Amino acid sequence: GTTPRFRNEPLTDFTRPENRTAMRSALDAARRRLGETLPIVIGGRRIETGRWVDSVNPAWRGEIVARGAAATAEIATSAIDIARDAFPAWRDTPAGQRADLLRKVALILRRDKFALAALEVFETGKQWREADADIAEAIDFCHFCADEMQRLTRPHRRDIPGEDNEYFYEPRGVAVVIAPWNFPLAILCGMTAAALVAGNTVIMKPAEQSPAVSARLMDAFEEAGVPKGVVNYLPGIGEEVGPVLVKHPDTSLIAFTGSRAVGMLIARQAAELAEGQEQIKRVIAELGGKNAVIVDDDADLDEAVHGVVASAFGYSGQKCSACSRVIVLDSVYETFLSRLVESTRSLEIGPAENPGYYLGPVIDDEAQRRILAMIDRARRQSRLAYQADVSALASEGSYVPPTIFADVSPSASIAQEEVFGPVLAVIRAADLTDALRIANGTKYALTGGLFSRSPANIDRVRREFRVGNLYINRKITGALVDRQPFGGFKLSGVGSKAGGPDYLQQFLIPRVITENT
Ligand code: GLU
Repeated sequence: GTTPRFRNEPLTDFTRPENRTAMRSALDAARRRLGETLPIVIGGRRIETGRWVDSVNPAWRGEIVARGAAATAEIATSAIDIARDAFPAWRDTPAGQRADLLRKVALILRRDKFALAALEVFETGKQWREADADIAEAIDFCHFCADEMQRLTRPHRRDIPGEDNEYFYEPRGVAVVIAPWNFPLAILCGMTAAALVAGNTVIMKPAEQSPAVSARLMDAFEEAGVPKGVVNYLPGIGEEVGPVLVKHPDTSLIAFTGSRAVGMLIARQAAELAEGQEQIKRVIAELGGKNAVIVDDDADLDEAVHGVVASAFGYSGQKCSACSRVIVLDSVYETFLSRLVESTRSLEIGPAENPGYYLGPVIDDEAQRRILAMIDRARRQSRLAYQADVSALASEGSYVPPTIFADVSPSASIAQEEVFGPVLAVIRAADLTDALRIANGTKYALTGGLFSRSPANIDRVRREFRVGNLYINRKITGALVDRQPFGGFKLSGVGSKAGGPDYLQQFLIPRVITENT
C-alpha cells in the first residue's frame, strides 16, 4: 500500500454565494461576542487577574474585540511548574496518540473555519481570504506535524551480529511558545503543534494584539482532549511574562516568531544558566526580513507589477515574508515604476469586514506611529513616488497609506530596516550583478524573488541570491506547509523551516541505545 500523502487544506472560494453567506453570518456572530473576556488557562483551571490585555479592532479604534486576562509573573511561574509536572505522562503517551489528537484539532478548526476567520477580521484586520488562508495553514500544521512525528517514530536500527543499535527521539520538556499577531492562528498553532506532537508540554503566550484567536485554539486543544496541563494559555504583556517564562530553570525550549530585537533578547536570556537549571535551552527563532524582488530587463512587467504589489501591500505588508525592496534593472526601471504606481493607486483601502477592500489598517496605533515615523524619515532621504490618501479613514482606525519611494539608495535606512507596513523602496540596478549585490546586501535572508524570462539569469539568481525562500516569477508571500517550508537565516532566524522536514527534530532529543547481544 501507499502511505497517505500530506495535502494542503483547500482555501475557501469566496466567489461562491454560499461561502459569502457563511462568512457574513460568521461576522455577525463574531460581532455579537465582541468584548468577551478570556481567562488564563493553566492546568485546566481558568484564572482572571483583574488586569486585562485588550485587543482592539484596528479598523474601528475603540471597539474592543476581547479582553485577555493579563498574567502576572507568579502565574507565569506556576504555568511552567504545571507544565513540568504534566510532562512525564505526556512524554510517555504513544506518539501515535499525540498525532491523533492533532488530527482532531484539525477537524475542529475546519468545522469552525468561518467563525475563526471572522474573528481574525475583527481582531487583526485580516481580509477574508487572508484570514481563511491563516486557518487553512493552521490545519495544515496539525496534519503535517502529526505525519512528521509518525515518520520520526519509525524504527531506526543499525544491528550487526552481536550488537543491536537503536536510534530514537524523545521530547525535551517544557516548551514556551511566543507567537505574533500577524498569522494569529497559523504560527501559534504551528509552533505549538510541533512541540506537542513531539511530546513536550506547552505554554502558549499569544501576542497582546490577538488574545481572542489564540484563546479559540486553546479551546480546540481542550475539545480534542489534550490532557490538563499539557497545553496552557497565558495571555499577558510580553515584557512582564516573557522573561519569566524564558528564564525559568525548567523551561527546555523557546519557540519564538517575531521581531529581531525580541528574538535576540530571548536568545540572550535563554543562554544564562538559572539556579537549578539542568539543561541547555534550545531557542527556535523566526525573525524579520528586508525582502527584495529583482525585476530583470526581460521580465513580463504585468506579472512583475502584480507580484510585487501583492507581496508588498497584501495585509498592509505585515508579513515577515513581505516585499519591501524592488530592485529594477536600468532599462525597464521607468516603465516598471510608472506601472507599479498606477497599480498601487488602484488599490481600494478600508475595513476588512468588507471584502471589496484590498488592504486595511495596520495592527494598532503604535504600529501606525512607528511606520509613519519611518516614512517621514525616508522622505528626507529618498524621493516619494506615490502615497495613497487615507485621511478619510484616519479618524476610524490605524491606517497607513501605501507608500512607494523611488531611486532609493541601497544603503538608505528605508532599504535596510524592516518596516512591517505598506512601504516599498524601489532601487535602480545597473545590471544583474549589481542587482544581486544589492539584494544580498542586508543583514536578513528570509524571502526573495525574481521576475525574468532568461533561463541563464534565473539560474544565476537561484545560485547567488541567498535567502531562505526564493520565488521565481510569482509573489514572495504565502508559503504553503510542506510545499514551501518557510524560514530564513542570517539575522532572519536560526535557519529552521516551519512546515519542512527538519522542523520537528528541533523539539526533540535523539538518543541511542546499544545492546551487546
Ligand atoms: N509564512 C508567511 C508567508 O509565507 C509569513 C510568515 C510571517 O510573517 O511570519 O507569507
